[in-house]
Amino acid sequence: MQDQLNNLPERAKDKHKENKEFFKKLKKKPPKQLDYIMQELHEDEFEKTDCLTCANCCKTTGPLFTDKDIQRISKHFRMKPSQFIDQYLRIDEDNDYVLQSVPCTFLGADNYCMIYDVRPKACREFPHTDRKKFQQISNLTMKNVAICPAAFNIVEAMKKRIKF
Ligand code: SF4
Ligand code: SF4
Repeated sequence: MQDQLNNLPERAKDKHKENKEFFKKLKKKPPKQLDYIMQELHEDEFEKTDCLTCANCCKTTGPLFTDKDIQRISKHFRMKPSQFIDQYLRIDEDNDYVLQSVPCTFLGADNYCMIYDVRPKACREFPHTDRKKFQQISNLTMKNVAICPAAFNIVEAMKKRIKF
């Protein structure tokens, strides 16, 4: 897995132009069955991919924390939300709460998330490849294929499945 992760940014760079053209066409003319296709591609990929051997998202990018996330996680730690914010979070350039540092503080050495049951919504949804109207997050997906091997494979599978 580590070799795969080391090569991923370069492979994503090689595919960037092709992906950009594909997503441009997808946005213009999304197939009627797109939600269904994405669900299927997402499930197929995550049957093969074991996130516990990877954790690259947790190691290289942090999630953003919504107010609800902060309330839920601080309650889990029996802390006040303001204490939790002071200890773990900062405000980024988009005015969102994000982690003070990566790898994520809550990532264990075994790649397990220490707050799995109460983890941020963004963590639960990453890499967003099963979300509805997938054509609306093409810019984010083009970034995610350089971080997430599963997202990379899903986009490659999409290009084979959806022909324009
Ligand atoms: S979601 Fe992607 S980057 Fe995160 S652990 Fe799973 S395969 Fe790796
Ligand atoms: S909260 Fe858990 S799932 Fe989210 S980035 Fe940290 S370790 Fe990963």
